[in-house]
Amino acid sequence: MVHFVGAGPGAPDLITMQGVRLLRQADTVIYAGSLVNPALLSYCKDGCTVFNSAELTLEQVIKIYLQEEEQHHMTVRLHTGDPSVYGAIQEQMDALRANSIPFRVTPGVSSFCAAAAALETEYTLPGVSQTVILTRLTGKTPVPERESLSALAAHGASMVIFLSAGMMESLQDALLKGAYTADTPAAIVYKASWPEEKLLRCSVGKLSELAHLHGIRSTALVLAGDFLSSPYERSCLYNPSFTTQYRKGVSTE
Ligand code: SAH
Repeated sequence: MVHFVGAGPGAPDLITMQGVRLLRQADTVIYAGSLVNPALLSYCKDGCTVFNSAELTLEQVIKIYLQEEEQHHMTVRLHTGDPSVYGAIQEQMDALRANSIPFRVTPGVSSFCAAAAALETEYTLPGVSQTVILTRLTGKTPVPERESLSALAAHGASMVIFLSAGMMESLQDALLKGAYTADTPAAIVYKASWPEEKLLRCSVGKLSELAHLHGIRSTALVLAGDFLSSPYERSCLYNPSFTTQYRKGVSTE
């Protein structure tokens, strides 16, 4: 059996309890060494075999799954954040299915959630934005033209940009081609929940300069949108005048 486990954003206690239980049981762990905090490996039992997926191809990873399965071992593949976001997990699941190897997925706390927590902010503010766009700039993996950053930026929604901290100038330009202005609030969150976490609040027009100043080129998210500072409306759900399935609204006049 193979378990895909979301490791969370970095802090070893931001993995789920299910994730820890599976790590404790695992005979073999393959972890994404470039992003997963190695401190999480302290949950593994003595004698657990550990591989760093950064040094492996998909074919080599699948070979390990097959070998371990033959020995009736349990393998954990530890992905950073949540495996469903830029996790390259689909191709692994399809290969396992093709080889009739059972697997399960345990979700994790994505870095975009950890970034909002660190900034003490909410992406979905009434009267500001009710949409969060998770995206990236084209790198080795191309982004479909219809999803180009400037096209998505036309919505002016709450935006989280992954995997693009090394291309901050293009990122800033693309945002400015959309609905954002140089003054739209923005933030760079480096290594959310790690001891070396950095929170840099700025405006869209200053993103590139600030990233350069702090030497940030990877393991960072860029957040942009009015949710970072605009006035908002209070929620309907918790408004005294709002009737819900559980509570009768009262007139507040
Ligand atoms: N599955 C992961 C994302 C993997 S892609 C998730 O759910 O978070 C790797 C990118 O995620 C990095 O380039 C960076 O943009 C972002 N990232 C991952 N961990 C991060 C962290 N702790 N702080 C800030 N950004 C992070």
